[in-house]
Amino acid sequence: MQIEKEIMSRVNVHLASHYGMCFGVRDALAATRSTYDENDVTVLGQLVHNPVVSQELTENGVKEGNLNNPITDNEGTVIITAHGASESDRSRWASPHRKVVDTTCPLVHKVHESLASLIDSGFFPMVIGKKGHAEVNGIIGDFPQAIVIEREEDIFDVPYEGKIGIVSQTTQPTDRVNELVEKIRFLRNNSEVRFIDTVCSPTKNRQKAVKDLCQVCDLIVVVGGSNSNNTSQLVSTVEGLGSRAVQVERPEDLILDWFIGVKDVGVTAGTSTLNETVISVSERIKAISEELAVKDRGYLGKERILC
Ligand code: SF4
Repeated sequence: MQIEKEIMSRVNVHLASHYGMCFGVRDALAATRSTYDENDVTVLGQLVHNPVVSQELTENGVKEGNLNNPITDNEGTVIITAHGASESDRSRWASPHRKVVDTTCPLVHKVHESLASLIDSGFFPMVIGKKGHAEVNGIIGDFPQAIVIEREEDIFDVPYEGKIGIVSQTTQPTDRVNELVEKIRFLRNNSEVRFIDTVCSPTKNRQKAVKDLCQVCDLIVVVGGSNSNNTSQLVSTVEGLGSRAVQVERPEDLILDWFIGVKDVGVTAGTSTLNETVISVSERIKAISEELAVKDRGYLGKERILC
């Protein structure tokens, strides 16, 4: 009898050479954890876009505040996230009775400084990034004239005259940023366009590593929060290369059917994902692989009995 189904070999799990939590988020989390024994601690926005971390903060009494609304109570501790904040937003929270823990990543500070230096040199300010994202809001918060370029259509808002200065949100894919900069240069060819590349090195490393994984894997599992910008950028990079990606927040989100017929699985994670979560997802994939192999052996055994 011809048995059509092949014995399911176990799935090989490949971890990306760079993945998961970056130094900026790790330091912000460590600074926040050091306030767990204090009363009345509020993070200005979401510390990291990751539900596992958000749950830990809630369990330790850390509240999430709204950066845009001034608060009435002037005491306690407020934490500025790694995404940073504009000076105007900072002033809303300033009070002599309040402790401020500033966890802004140094690489986000670099974006603020780069944009300010472009404006000082007479350039019209532009940021390539996601509209409404906390980091982008912080970058443009003190420069109401700045334009955010998220899609090509946004370039039509760019003035036709004068000098144009561009920075990028730290977590944008470099290919996409370069593409948009070239488009701006093309559409505003009478303007002097100066671009300062402020995509951070951890983002670049993770983007490069996931591209390498796509060369050898049938499926890429991206671990990270559903509202994490850099996690969804990793998914887009994989799909842009014609490879298959799935995004999960926790091991429980993995679905067995995704792995049927898959031999090599790549695992990566956004910069806000805890390493423990990545390891548990990898372990769960190995367990699923075992389950599939056992199922296949059962299937073949049944076929042989029928012979
Ligand atoms: S993603 Fe980059 S800029 Fe953002 S916190 Fe991490 S290292 Fe800093």
